[in-house]
Amino acid sequence: MVRGKTAVVTGSTSGIGLGIAQVLAREGANIFLNGFGGRTEIERLRLRLAQEYGVKAGFSPADLAKPAEIAEMTAQATREFGGIDILVNNAGIQFTAPIEEFPAEKWDSIIAINLSANFHTIRTVLPQMRARNWGRIVNIASAHGLVASPMKAAYVAAKHGVIGLTKVVALEMARTGITCNAICPGWVLTPLVQRQIDDLAAREGLSAADARRRLLEEKQPSGEFATPEQIGAVTAFLCSDAAAEIRGAAITVDGAWTAQ
Ligand code: NAD
Repeated sequence: MVRGKTAVVTGSTSGIGLGIAQVLAREGANIFLNGFGGRTEIERLRLRLAQEYGVKAGFSPADLAKPAEIAEMTAQATREFGGIDILVNNAGIQFTAPIEEFPAEKWDSIIAINLSANFHTIRTVLPQMRARNWGRIVNIASAHGLVASPMKAAYVAAKHGVIGLTKVVALEMARTGITCNAICPGWVLTPLVQRQIDDLAAREGLSAADARRRLLEEKQPSGEFATPEQIGAVTAFLCSDAAAEIRGAAITVDGAWTAQ
């Protein structure tokens, strides 16, 4: 289903976004990467995807906190690949603090990158999806889009917002061939989570393995991390024909975190 389509995956130089980009490339989609990181490393990644899977691969360094750079990224991907069929809004950041101590600038940047960027990518890509009457928008929300945890005011607010935005876009596109859904991962072992494990280990004087176990025990009944490849596979499924009538859903991949 995705063969020959073009997918823009934001925040795909690391973690879950990279997993999604790899799965979609393996399925034959051309991939437009985005995110931060060393230029040489990113160029190596871009070439590897293109060579390994025989697809086209592009890259934009757009900072998703900046709407003008998002518009430029969309224009560049459209120019280079002829159009965008699949949009995966994945880029995200985290910061933890009690609300009275939560720095206002951290709130602003989390809302900008984790929530507002999704609005800006969607609004710039929808006109061309509408023109072709086909599109797949997948927003990577979180278990924290459905339930809360202390210390994560901005993240939880942004991710709940992403699920709201997903539903609105799904409703507005309900009579078209464009679907919009959210995926809600629980813990996935990526650099974003590794930083939280390191903080926990330092705070409680735990070994890395004990801190990992503690993190999982607290929230994720399966006791296992979900993987970027699993999130990629669910994304690919949402892009398939079988998923054409899945609209406005928030699909959990969270080891039963939100079943409790
Ligand atoms: P990560 O830190 O490994 O990757 C984040 C990616 O976003 C990187 O490519 C980074 O360069 C990019 N990025 C960050 N700020 C950016 C900006 N301003 N502009 C452009 N790109 C930017 O994190 P991850 O764990 O892979 O998280 C990916 C998404 O999954 C996030 O939206 C996160 O909230 C969500 N998520 C992660 C988990 C988890 O357990 N890891 C769970 C639920 C949801």
